[in-house]
Parts: sequence; structure tokens; C-alpha cells
Amino acid sequence: MDLTLTPEMARFRDEVRAFLQAHRSEYDAGQPKDVLAWQRLLIDNGYAARTIPKAYGGYGAEPDILKSRIITEEFIRADAPRGIANQGVSMLVPTLLEVGSEEQKKQWIGPTLRGEVIWCQGYSEPGAGSDLASLQTKAIEAGDDFLISGQKIWTSTAHQADMIFCLVRTEPDAPKHEGISYILFPMTTPGIEVRPLTTMTGHAEFNEVFFTDVRVPKANVVGGRGRGWFVANTTLKHERGMLGDPNATEARLNALIELMKTETVGGERIIDNPLFRDRLMQLQARVFAMKFNGMRLLTAAQTGEGAGLAGLVVKLQGCELNHQIAALAIDALGELGILYHDGPHLRARGNWQRNYMFDLGLIIGGGTAQIQKNIISERGLGMPREPSPAKA
Ligand SMILES: Cc1cc2nc3c(=O)[nH]c(=O)nc-3n(C[C@H](O)[C@H](O)[C@H](O)COP(=O)(O)OP(=O)(O)OC[C@H]3O[C@@H](n4cnc5c(N)ncnc54)[C@H](O)[C@@H]3O)c2cc1C
Repeated sequence: MDLTLTPEMARFRDEVRAFLQAHRSEYDAGQPKDVLAWQRLLIDNGYAARTIPKAYGGYGAEPDILKSRIITEEFIRADAPRGIANQGVSMLVPTLLEVGSEEQKKQWIGPTLRGEVIWCQGYSEPGAGSDLASLQTKAIEAGDDFLISGQKIWTSTAHQADMIFCLVRTEPDAPKHEGISYILFPMTTPGIEVRPLTTMTGHAEFNEVFFTDVRVPKANVVGGRGRGWFVANTTLKHERGMLGDPNATEARLNALIELMKTETVGGERIIDNPLFRDRLMQLQARVFAMKFNGMRLLTAAQTGEGAGLAGLVVKLQGCELNHQIAALAIDALGELGILYHDGPHLRARGNWQRNYMFDLGLIIGGGTAQIQKNIISERGLGMPREPSPAKA
């Protein structure tokens, strides 16, 4: 693709830079001082919810991939917060835009974008992770409502969420992909119990969620009863895109390079050590490949062609690379790399250690690496399907 910016795009870049400069005092080291106020400012100026129609609380700009790219690059360069990118904003909002009813769009998109309503995703169950269509949480008809009973697991932020977008089985006798509905309900509904699960980061980032006769109006189903599998896949498409942003990975690589320039062993900079340098160069080559893959996606989107295999490698590469970058940072820190809790020698407030542990989970969440590789080989490369395991 031609990477030269037109004068119009160069002007747009200047505008974004001027905005970030003017509001420098409202954020610090990637964090807004007031999250909700910052989010409102971004939406009002078209730097968040940019292409979402004004009628639903967005900025209402025409999609322009180059402008979006410029915004991302400038925010990363300024270390400015990108605004709220939680599961509601990144996954539910685009799903409602594609398949929600007019009423659902009007009711939920605006408050979600502004950060006033926090959502969690109720997909996984103890026996239904990669094989999600096996889910058993059932919704039994009770007049205009469903009564929902069952269990979800690994539900990120369920302990903070106001609402859940949840997959339930409404037609127990239908084939497993056809009896599922996608339904929205408040986490305060009677019959919901949330139990925290502590991860190796030491924090309880996700939960088990139990439902006992939770009464939810049938009108809360998104995309039609029994069509939940299709709606769930619409959400997953957006989740996988969100988990593999090459700009974020490049920013992390640049932070690693800085770290390796400043940390020393016996007076020698880590970056001058041939073994560490070799590992860094291998990662750098992969980050560049990921970046150019991102440009292939941009070109495809601009010319209206399908991205094909290029689109499938994003989540797999992004999550694995982020983890490997954090792993090299920890090795480069040597003994300091095993510190975690506050202390005078802790570097970057323990972010490298936290990323290393948390990003291992992201290689699993939203589709494991093994499943991603199967999708790439089967749908992308046209290789034969993996044989199903023999029935016990
Ligand atoms: C950090 C994190 C956050 C999460 N957040 C949420 C959330 O908010 N909401 C939610 O609903 N879920 C969430 N999950 C759950 C996540 O989607 C599941 O963990 C994931 O889908 C894998 O399912 P599983 O854990 O049941 O593993 P399993 O499906 O049991 O897989 C176990 C292993 O077997 C492999 N495997 C399974 N089937 C195949 C196959 N056909 N071919 C090859 N290998 C296979 C897998 O790749 C994996 O290595 C989260 C998970 C993590 C780690």
C-alpha cells in the first residue's frame, strides 16, 4: 500500500496532536484523571465512538480507516488513554449495532459508550469453553419471561458489572447450535450469585456466576430467539479484533527496548548483551510482521476485499507476542524480574510481571491458541479438518 499521507491526512494528524497537547493536564502515563469525563471529551471530539451514529450517543463520523489509524498512532505516541474499551464498548456495542433491535440500540449503546453501564460476558461454562455450543444454562418459559438456571465460569468483571450479555439454552430439543439465545439482564436480578476466582496475578479478575430461577423478560433476547449462536459469533469477531492491536504491541516492544537500554549488569547495558539482543531482534521481526499484516488488513478494508487469512492471525499473533515481550523483559530484569509487590527496586510498578501473568490468560480467553491455529489451518489455508476425538 502507498504509505504517503495526503495533505488532508497530514492536517488531521496535526489536529489530533493539538488536541492531545491541549488536554495534557487531564491524563498522566496512559491514565485519565477522571475516566468518565475523559470518555465524554473523547466522544465529543470524535476520538472514541467515532463512527457510531449520533442517534445512539456516538460521534457520527463516516468510517475512515486512515483517520482511525492516525488517531491510534498519535494516542500511543502521546501515551494518552484511549478511552473505555471494556467488554461492553468493544463487544456488545458493535453486536447491538449489527443485530440489536432499535429499542435495544437506543437503550444500551449510549450509556455503555459513556461508561455508565458496565457489562460482563456470560458465555463459558464448566463443560463448555472451546466447545461453547455445548452450554447447558437453561431458560424455561414463564409467560412473557424466561426463568434462567445454570452456571457460568471465567466471567471477567462480573463482580463489577451492572449487566450481563449471556448465552442460554431456550430450545433444549433443538440441535446444539440452534437452541441457544443471547439475552441481556441486570446483575442485580434476584437469583444471581457471583463468586470471585483469584488468578496468579493475585487479583480476582474473573468469577463463577450461578443462576437460580433468574426472571428475565423475553423481550431482552438479542437477534431473535434460538439465533444466539449467530449473535455470539458476531461478538467473538469483535473480541478477537480487540485482542490483537499491532500498535499496542509495538508500543510494548518500544518500552522493552528502553528497558534494555537502561538496565545494566556489571556495567554492561542489557541491550549490548548478544543473547538478549538476539531474542529482542527475533521479537522485533515478528512485531514488524504483525504491523505489516495490520496494513494488509487496512488495504483490504479500503479496497472492499476480504482480509482472508490476514484477519485470522491477528488475535493469535498479538496475544502470543505480548506475552513473549513481557517474558523477555522479566529475563532482562534478572533478579528484579521476580519482584512483584511494592518495593524500591520494582520497575514500572510491576507492570512487566503483571502483564506476563495476565497475558498468558489472554492466549486462552476469546479462543485458545490451539483453536485459533485450527481455524487458520482449516478456514484460512484450506487444510483438512482435524479428526474428532473417538467417542468414549
Ligand atoms: C483471562 C480470561 C478471561 C476470560 N473471560 C471470559 C469472559 O469474560 N466470559 C466468558 O464467557 N469466558 C471467559 N473466559 C473463558 C474462555 O473463553 C475459555 O477459557 C476458553 O474458551 C477455553 O475454554 P476452556 O477454558 O473450557 O478450555 P477447554 O475448551 O477445555 O480447552 C482446554 C485445552 O484443550 C484445547 N482444545 C480444546 N478443544 C480443542 C480442539 N478441538 N482442538 C485442539 N485443541 C483443543 C484447548 O486449546 C486448550 O488448550 C476467559 C478466559 C480467560 C483465560
